Amino acid sequence: MKLVLATHNQGKVKELTKMLRSDAGTLQQIEVVSLKAYPDAPEVVEDGETYMENAAKKASAIAEYTGCLALADDAGLEVDALNGAPGINSKRWAGEDATDAIRIAKLLQALEGSTDRRARFIAAIAVVHPNSVPKGVLGVCEGYITHAPKGETGFGYDPVFVPDGYEQTFAELGEDIKNQISHRAKALQQALALL
Ligand code: IMP
Repeated sequence: MKLVLATHNQGKVKELTKMLRSDAGTLQQIEVVSLKAYPDAPEVVEDGETYMENAAKKASAIAEYTGCLALADDAGLEVDALNGAPGINSKRWAGEDATDAIRIAKLLQALEGSTDRRARFIAAIAVVHPNSVPKGVLGVCEGYITHAPKGETGFGYDPVFVPDGYEQTFAELGEDIKNQISHRAKALQQALALL
């Protein structure tokens, strides 16, 4: 069986592929491919009101286009002192073409002077067989936002997010630890049961 990862984000493809490959039982039965194998796949507009809505929309569109089992995620960072922002707008809130560095700079500026740094990553993962109803799961990773970026690995807001129980950012902790404790890892653990 082929599983298409419905994302162009190479950071996510790397994480999801590694996590799926580390699950020996799943690996034996599933060939994992990314959207790189489908360069003409339709772009899906992420206009849902929830992470789950967006994940289901992406997975359904790609399952229909490829005729294969598809998995999509939609994630965001919710910061208490910003009333849950950037949340579902995590990708776009610093502008359509913003880089990770620009998003991080905007976040740190918005939190300047704030002692409440509590935040969490949330990920929804949807799995869809062609012509079937999407099934979804949610994963949450609690933590806090630092005052300056640190570390080189990962993507997005990883250099400014320290997960609970650790003193280093996701970008300092590295892939192996992130892939065990992240929002996406927690959602994927549950999604494996759906696969
Ligand atoms: P998306 O809509 O699921 O692609 O995610 C929205 C944005 O949230 C991304 O562009 C990243 O900036 C951020 N994000 C999602 N997951 C992560 C993560 O694991 N680490 C850091 N940032 C993330």
